[in-house]
Amino acid sequence: MSDLILFWHRRDLRISDHTGLAKAREQSAKVVGVFCLDPDILQRDDIAPARVTYMIGCLQALQKRYNQAGSQLLILQGNPVSVIPDLAAALQAKAVFWNWDVEPYSQTRDIAVIDSLTEKGIQFLNHNWDQLLHSPTEIFSGSKTPYTVYTPFWKNWISKPKATPVETLPNFAGLTAQEQEIAQQAGAINLPSAQDLGFIWDGELVIEPGEAAAQERLETFTHSMINGYQEQRNFPAIDGTSQLSAALKFGVIGIRTVWQATIEALENSNSEEVTASIRTWQQELAWREFYQHAMYYFPDLADGAYRDSFKSFPWQNNEKHFQAWCEGKTGYPIVDAAMRQLNEIGWMHNRCRMIVASFLTKDLIINPQWGEKYFMQKLIDGDLSANNGGWQWSASSGMDPKPLRIFNPASQAQKFDGEGEYIRQWVSELKSVDTEYLVSGNITPLERRSIGYPAPIVDHKKQQALFKEIYKEQKATI
Ligand SMILES: Cc1cc2nc3c(=O)[nH]c(=O)nc-3n(C[C@H](O)[C@H](O)[C@H](O)COP(=O)(O)OP(=O)(O)OC[C@H]3O[C@@H](n4cnc5c(N)ncnc54)[C@H](O)[C@@H]3O)c2cc1C
Repeated sequence: MSDLILFWHRRDLRISDHTGLAKAREQSAKVVGVFCLDPDILQRDDIAPARVTYMIGCLQALQKRYNQAGSQLLILQGNPVSVIPDLAAALQAKAVFWNWDVEPYSQTRDIAVIDSLTEKGIQFLNHNWDQLLHSPTEIFSGSKTPYTVYTPFWKNWISKPKATPVETLPNFAGLTAQEQEIAQQAGAINLPSAQDLGFIWDGELVIEPGEAAAQERLETFTHSMINGYQEQRNFPAIDGTSQLSAALKFGVIGIRTVWQATIEALENSNSEEVTASIRTWQQELAWREFYQHAMYYFPDLADGAYRDSFKSFPWQNNEKHFQAWCEGKTGYPIVDAAMRQLNEIGWMHNRCRMIVASFLTKDLIINPQWGEKYFMQKLIDGDLSANNGGWQWSASSGMDPKPLRIFNPASQAQKFDGEGEYIRQWVSELKSVDTEYLVSGNITPLERRSIGYPAPIVDHKKQQALFKEIYKEQKATI
């Protein structure tokens, strides 16, 4: 047995501020990274080309980081339950380390990997909750149960001391040339492109991959943009949010580093407004953790509604309406702008995610799982816990005490895109329409026809009333 520790990267594609990697490096200088391209994930029908392209870019950057540190990041392709232990055995590694995850698939897979490593007599260490400031085992309600409501979760979460960024000892020792050959014989391959894996993303990535780019974005955001976040975050035409979601999903930046940057921003704050703004952004980070804790304790969330009244809800599921929603051709300008933004760049502003999710579920009365899946097929930051949480919140089927939240697309556009800037950016045929009509959606049938913009596929007022009626009946049966 050698001194080698393999570090299995999954949603932690970085070297800095990395709890598991720091531990591995403390125990041995010889630490080599490994990433497994898992067909069970890549062959699912909800994988976004933009997301895979971003991930491959992050892996390229991580390989460079390992090389600079004197080591390697190996790439495997296959079922991690066999390929990870096989590689570890071939290299006579003393241990495999990784960070723990909340998703149901990851947990089942990891237990099988543990069994296989144990059979081969290889040690493992996987207890770090690297991607969270507080693990699900740290935050409980007064009755020692997991929280199902955000506000008390936030109060408890924010009251706890937070860890500072973790230092990793520099200068790793990597594999010798002979060991690299052994690794290849055991299945290590060159990193393929997203295209090689069957994912074609023609456009530019809206978010630059890699640790350095994420760090730069964090600095730009927390040095100035964060001060106006509370006001600006609701306006989709403004670049007023961090755009760190993809980096956080893949762990391209450490969550402790992100938190530390907010503490520094608070220290530099010179007004109550700025402090409140930074606090609001911290609350978003807590939403992210709330949904991950929820997924950990209630894995059934991944399969459908949390609330009983939505478990057998009679969704209308009109396929033509769904298609129009996907393509951004519903005849509701703000909805169409948002869906076209998603289709074109693989990212959508949070305000618009809420608007289109409300429209799909409350206006079109379509099962939120359809929308949830479509988002996963497109989003660069698609993440099971956050996406599921967002959809359940919008559909009113989740852990949210407010029973029926229905967004009116026209008033949302009037409030948050008053000049129609965002709508015009994404729906080119609406460019010349008067702002008042554009934003209210009151475009005449004649004008719609002349500019080639569809008539509204449903009537918001009628559908809202219908949804409420169905909901009332449904509730009465429970
Ligand atoms: C229907 C719906 C689906 C969503 N799907 C996803 C998804 O797949 N992946 C994803 O990361 N976020 C998702 N969100 C949450 C949110 O829209 C995005 O995190 C945010 O728009 C990303 O932009 P940002 O990084 O600029 O966010 P910022 O406003 O700068 O927020 C900072 C970070 O906090 C986290 N965050 C912010 N809002 C939320 C939230 N409501 N729930 C959970 N985490 C949050 C994200 O990690 C984000 O990067 C969804 C929201 C809705 C309503």
